[in-house]
Amino acid sequence: MREEEQTGEALLLPHQQRGNLLVVSGPSGVGKDTIIEKVLTQTPGVVRSISATTRPPREGERDGQDYFFLSLQQFEEAVKAGKFLEYARYGSHYYGTPKEPVEKQLQQGLDVVLKIEVQGAFQVKQIVPTAILVFIAPPSLHELKRRLIQRGTESEERIKERLRIAREELAVLPRYDYCVINDLVETACEGLRAIILAERLRIRNA
Ligand code: 5GP
Repeated sequence: MREEEQTGEALLLPHQQRGNLLVVSGPSGVGKDTIIEKVLTQTPGVVRSISATTRPPREGERDGQDYFFLSLQQFEEAVKAGKFLEYARYGSHYYGTPKEPVEKQLQQGLDVVLKIEVQGAFQVKQIVPTAILVFIAPPSLHELKRRLIQRGTESEERIKERLRIAREELAVLPRYDYCVINDLVETACEGLRAIILAERLRIRNA
């Protein structure tokens, strides 16, 4: 076999192997769910990880679909048993990514999206250095506040807390690999989709 052919074959191999792990963070109310759901329906081969949380379900949220809703005791037991890829406290509740399903999906060659806050994102990057960190930012904090109020799922006090966390989250944006600004949903979806597609073409020199 000629040398160029051998090289070409070696280049193709990474594309047939494991999927990419994508971490998507961004302040509460920025529109992460809408963007992720739209991109998932437009992009075959991408799945979303379902997190566990001690937060009570919001109206319309379903166990096993939006989250696995656990008691604090169940969550602590899962932590002890090493069931989470990462976990963090956000506000007054815990959130964690179940390890096993993510690993299985990556092995199947699927790209897996974790919609998690920033502490968890950095834990993932440490454990999986090839993870791609995407930050979804609002056009402004003023606009974020408006969206949180409009969503109407949080009390005034909780909105204040989420805005305080949002300021802290925006401060660590430079540690992310990509930033997508959610001004127009369609444009933000195009941005996230472009990242997923480009990352599939990345040549990884292991
Ligand atoms: P919410 O209560 O609005 O559903 O989520 C609050 C925050 O927790 C969001 O920033 C969300 O992305 C984050 N979150 C959801 N699941 C996880 C998880 O498994 N791990 C971590 N670290 N954060 C999560």
